[in-house]
Amino acid sequence: MMICADCGELFEEAVDLFEIHGFHYPPYERLHACPHCKGIDIRDTFRCELCGEWITGEYIVTIDDNRICCECYTRHDIFDD
Ligand SMILES: [Zn+2]
Ligand SMILES: [Zn+2]
Repeated sequence: MMICADCGELFEEAVDLFEIHGFHYPPYERLHACPHCKGIDIRDTFRCELCGEWITGEYIVTIDDNRICCECYTRHDIFDD
């Protein structure tokens, strides 16, 4: 699964865009883009180890290498309770 940094949409497969740089002949630069907004700032994403939701922003990596989403943890301070 991939996520677009511009519009935040998740999608299975990027679409190909061709950047022609003002030239009208190949080779064109082939870019992978978001199918929703055609943005090219796209990233691989992965599921949260705990809730199974796709991670769409910040996440935590635990010491045993699990990646969990922000919904699955809250920070506390023992001196604040
Ligand atoms: Zn997008
Ligand atoms: Zn989660």
